[in-house]
Parts: sequence; structure tokens; C-alpha cells
Amino acid sequence: MTITDPYRDYCRLRDEAGLLRTLREAEPLACGRVRRGGRDYVNLASNDYLGLSRHPALIQAAQAYAVRFGTGSTASRLITGNHPAHRDIENRLAAGKGKEAALLLASGYQTNLTVIAALADKTVLKRPVTILADRLAHHSILQGAVLSGARSLRFGHNDLDHLETLLRARQGDFLLIASESVFGMDGDRADLAALGELAARYQAMLYIDEAHATGVFGKNGFGLAADCPQGVDVAMGTFGKALGSFGSYIACSQGLCDYLVQRCGGLIYSTALPPPVLGSMAAALELLPNLDRERAALLSLAETLRRALRAQGWDCGASTTQIIPVIVGAEEAVLHLAARLEGEGFLVAAIRPPTVPAGTARLRLSLSATHVPEDITRLITVMADLAPQFVSAA
Ligand SMILES: *Cc1c(COP(=O)(O)O)cnc(C)c1O
Repeated sequence: MTITDPYRDYCRLRDEAGLLRTLREAEPLACGRVRRGGRDYVNLASNDYLGLSRHPALIQAAQAYAVRFGTGSTASRLITGNHPAHRDIENRLAAGKGKEAALLLASGYQTNLTVIAALADKTVLKRPVTILADRLAHHSILQGAVLSGARSLRFGHNDLDHLETLLRARQGDFLLIASESVFGMDGDRADLAALGELAARYQAMLYIDEAHATGVFGKNGFGLAADCPQGVDVAMGTFGKALGSFGSYIACSQGLCDYLVQRCGGLIYSTALPPPVLGSMAAALELLPNLDRERAALLSLAETLRRALRAQGWDCGASTTQIIPVIVGAEEAVLHLAARLEGEGFLVAAIRPPTVPAGTARLRLSLSATHVPEDITRLITVMADLAPQFVSAA
């Protein structure tokens, strides 16, 4: 018996259950493709929704910033890591989001964890705190709630009656409602107007994660939160998906930003984003308002694929976005299906519990404006061939 045996046993059990996760290499290629094990695949597992990760303007900006400012920021923003580009990017984000201010942080995971923990800090709020998160909200939101030490409740996915019941039961507490605007594993959307209305009625803070909406939805691609008539208190988003690089932001009031600079561990204790990333961020925001054509092409490609899949009998859930789940239920079935698609040259993520609820194992198809339409047409043909086997079994 050694000190590491429990970890090895854990991995062995996962492996025996066919659930072992492994890190497999993949080399990105142009046109929504990827190379793995010497073979080229159509990549349906990336969040590069607009293809910006390979856009010449982002690459050039990253190079220019690296040459001029170096490769690292060398310190936390509170020390000497606060490059002037931070301010320009934050101003642009605040304007695009229709908020007073914005704050850049290292990663979306870190942002949700540490911003939610700081906002729900009961030593600051001086009363009991309850966080109410959509059942399908991202792991990092749920972890932020755990880290805060606040009471943490989950409401049924997009079930606003359930949310209201919980809000009513916890009236008097400081209430924080957290949801995604576009759900990453289901590709459906939250009803932000209704959430805003509930938040106003129960005097709750509304925190919206726009990781999958940023770049793709809303005016100039700035996400859906700005469309919420009551406004959201905090709109969070990332640069690692449609915006093609890395990092994360929140947009909120100046007062909240000022507070977070005092209390948010992810900002205070973490090295600032490196200059090349800041360059790519600035370039992506510069491009963003001019990408309506790419956004329309992306959503139209998704609509074509979704319609075809549904006509073949596949369960695509409530998807209305560039993310299309193909829900097959059993874990073995989804692995089998993903393997068949891989054999046909399509790399697709098989998403299993605990990432999604038990019994809803699925493929997660995510589209990019850079996908070649012929590749998607061929995918539809392949899925039609597979449907009789998998749809009847579901
Ligand atoms: C990807 C994602 C995050 C994490 O963002 P990173 O910048 O990748 O750490 C947070 N929330 C949601 C909904 C996401 O999909």
C-alpha cells in the first residue's frame, strides 16, 4: 500500500467502467479541421465558432505585442502586470455590453470561481447568502458557489417556476441567481427577460455566463445580456471560444468592479494575461462588430444540420444555437457513435455524466463559420446511415 494507491484505484475503476478520460493530442488545421494520429478530421468539437483563432489580425496582433512587450505580464494586475491594453479592452467590452465597466481576468473558470465567491461573501454582505444556479450551469459556477460558503441551491434547467419557489423560500437572504445565456452542453438559451424580471421582483443579483454567446449572439456579437430589458448585474464571458484566444471578462457597474479589485482572489493573486493574448483580445474586439456575415453563416449552417438530424429522428434537445447535442442516452451508445463518426473522419465530443445528467449522454456538435458546407453535408449523410441503429436503440 503506497500513498498514491487510492488514486490509481480510482483510475482503474474508471477505466473498467469505460469512463477513463485521457488527454489526446490534436493539431489544429484551417477550415474547421484538425489532425490526430496522422489523420485529418472535420473538427466538430471546438468552440472556435467564428474561426478567429486563426484570423490573420489576431495572429499579427499577438506577434506584435510579443515583440514589443514580451511574452509574459510578469506580475498580478495589482502589482505591475496591468498593461495599458487592459484599459482599452475593458472600455470596449463595457461599451459593447452596455455596462459602466468591465474587468479582465485570466480564465473563465477562474472568473466564475473567484468572482462568485467574492460577490457572495457573507462577511461583506452581513446576512445569509443563497446562490441559485441553473441545474445545467457550468461546473465553475457551481464551484464558485461552493467556494463562497453560501447556501447553494439548483433550480431545474430553465425552470423559472422552480426558481421562483426557491426565491420565495429564501426571501430575506442576499440572493444571487446564476445561469448561462447559451448553455454549453445543450445549445439552448435562458430566458433572460424572465430571469431579469424575477431578479428584480425578489431583489436578487443576476449573474449571467456568456461563454458560448460571446461573439455569436447579440448586437455586434457582444452577447445576449445587453438585450435583457432589466439589465443583468454581472455578465461574464470568455475570449477562449468565439473570440479565438484566451482569458475572460466580467461587465458590471463601476462599483462592483471597484469592489472586486479589493476582494476577488483570481484577480489579486494571479499573474495578469500575457501581452500576446492582450493583443489578440484587442484585435478580436476590433473585428467583432464586422462579423455579422460570419455569425449569420454559422447559425444558418447549424439550422441546416439540426433540421436534417431531427428529420432523421435524432434528439437534438432544445438547441437553437451553434451547439447541437445529439442525445442518445446510454454512455456505451454515445462512445460507439463517436467512434463510428471518427471512422468517417469527424471528430466529435462524446459528453457523458457527470458533465451532463445521467441518462443523457450525447454527442456535442459545435459548428464554426469556417466549416466547409460540403463537410457538413457529408456529416448529414453519415448520420442518416447511422440513424437506424442508434435512434431505434434510444
Ligand atoms: C468554457 C466555459 C467556462 C470556462 O472558461 P475558460 O476561459 O475556458 O476557463 C466557463 N463557463 C462556461 C459556460 C464555459 O463554457
